[in-house]
Amino acid sequence: MIDKSLQQLLRQTSNIVALTGAGVSAESGIPTFRDAQQGMWANFDPMELATLEGFLRQPHKVWDWYQQRREMAAKAQPNAAHLALAEWQEQLEQCLIVTQNVDGLHQRAGSLHVIELHGNLHRDRPISQQLPAEKAADLPRCPETGNVLRPDVVWFGEMLPEGAMEQALSAIEVSDLVLSIGTSAVVQPAASIPLHALENGVPVVEINPETTELSSAADWSLRGSAADVVPQLVAAAQLHYSRDRLSR
Ligand code: NAD
Repeated sequence: MIDKSLQQLLRQTSNIVALTGAGVSAESGIPTFRDAQQGMWANFDPMELATLEGFLRQPHKVWDWYQQRREMAAKAQPNAAHLALAEWQEQLEQCLIVTQNVDGLHQRAGSLHVIELHGNLHRDRPISQQLPAEKAADLPRCPETGNVLRPDVVWFGEMLPEGAMEQALSAIEVSDLVLSIGTSAVVQPAASIPLHALENGVPVVEINPETTELSSAADWSLRGSAADVVPQLVAAAQLHYSRDRLSR
């Protein structure tokens, strides 16, 4: 799966950006967006559950759904892909993880440099709008302002956290390899990250069991699961680190 030219690149690389999506947490038991539409949330309507308007209309329903997702993420364990990326961070000069996931599993695996493009399921933040008293009853409130709290995730139509994209794009410009792992590469602006790498002459490796929008443009498309393939990439690069250490 890892051909000679990729092996050589992995051995030379010291600065990586890894864009991750829901697929990286699939083997931790957290359904991807697509699985969610087919599986336990077959009646999932993103406009009801993942927009500010939906929250203002039915805050208890939205909170119930996020509470379920929180519990699921809290019970899940980081898998071999999260752990391999955390290990790689310790070895490389720079290994920035740019994730679309909100489950916090990269950090629980030990990764320190993580940009969360879509926020974090385990955090809250206050809304600025006032809800009618009957709608706001029993909702969690900010202890300081008294405002109703919402999950600190990016909903459809909302801005990404300030500076997150700029930081990711700048890191790509000085990187020597970009990985796109477990993402369908359709949700913007995250999907533009690997394209920015290609425009800047930075090689892109995709890891996904299925073909995506990115597959034909990527320099390598490795068809497999994140938990299988990412540890193989780290192992291939490590041959270099250990030899390097021995020669010092
Ligand atoms: P997506 O559901 O659109 O795509 C998931 C991709 O992962 C697919 O291309 C699929 O083929 C691939 N995949 C499935 N199993 C895999 C595996 N074992 N290894 C590697 N790849 C695998 O998800 P997305 O691209 O991240 O975008 C959808 C949005 O939904 C994002 O905003 C994301 O944050 C959000 N989301 C997050 C979580 C989470 O935090 N874990 C879960 C569901 C959805």
